[in-house]
Amino acid sequence: MREFAFELRLCARLEREYPIVARQLGTSVRAAGGRIVDVVCLTRGPEFDARVALTPETIPAAVVEADVGVGRWRRVTDVFDAAPARARDLADRGVAAGFLERERKNGHAVVSRSARYPDWIGDVVGIENKPDLASPGDLMSQVRHDVSLGVLDFAILATESYVTRAHLNRLPPEIGVWRVDFDAGDPIEVVREPERLDSSGWGIEPGERRPGRCDVAPVAPAEKARQRLRVAERAYGKGWRTDGLPACANATRGCEAGVDSLPFCEYEGRLVDAASECGPDCPGYVPGDAPATDPDAERAARSAWEPNASSARRQSGLDRWS
Ligand code: SF4
Repeated sequence: MREFAFELRLCARLEREYPIVARQLGTSVRAAGGRIVDVVCLTRGPEFDARVALTPETIPAAVVEADVGVGRWRRVTDVFDAAPARARDLADRGVAAGFLERERKNGHAVVSRSARYPDWIGDVVGIENKPDLASPGDLMSQVRHDVSLGVLDFAILATESYVTRAHLNRLPPEIGVWRVDFDAGDPIEVVREPERLDSSGWGIEPGERRPGRCDVAPVAPAEKARQRLRVAERAYGKGWRTDGLPACANATRGCEAGVDSLPFCEYEGRLVDAASECGPDCPGYVPGDAPATDPDAERAARSAWEPNASSARRQSGLDRWS
């Protein structure tokens, strides 16, 4: 729970520095769910504002890469390199995201792009949270994965612990280190700057570990680029906030100025993970109304994310199809 609370508070702080902040995103190319990065921050690429104006939703990578242009209608089953049911599902997701428009022509479902996909992704910064370095868990394999694969541009360890020279020497030199003290005026002390990773070249992805050996797989630049796109789109659509606050009289809003959506519990005296901790089984549970919060409005006010982008186009597309 300490790491969960640390992560939420760190995200709230990082939202002051980065236009997009998200939590718990997979960066593995070969092993789905293999490496989950705690926090991902994006910087602005050259056409960042065009992405903001496009849609607030995640656009699936397969939809971005679909062979279809603006005003160039093609059959759904020809656009996606997938079985018909999967192609229709991808078309649904592209339309729901507002990136594809769909019509019926000559008895066939056809799609076209509603807009050109912009060059919007700047740097992808990954942060691994280990509040207590005395309990590092899989830290070394996690940061080695980040450095070896290179889907991220920068990888950083964030901790509340005092960072010794021995800690720094054990970490790969590319890994940056932050010491975080939320009670300090400036809570992030940069102990070591990260070095830029080779996100455009070949990568090596560590795989299954067995006694005395670790499987590895080469990853081509195009595969990494696709995964970067997937990570950036997930970050843009998902953000970092949890789903509402617990319906409990002990739940209150926040412990960070201007951030009402942090789930603080008066009984526990800390941030809680409502999904796993809250409910009648909790000894401090007192039935009550969840404190009113509007995570989307808060995110819109504090970040570059625009919840109403392209909503008219998206709605008209859905109406036309129904
Ligand atoms: S259910 Fe328990 S953990 Fe959740 S807010 Fe209530 S007292 Fe706190």
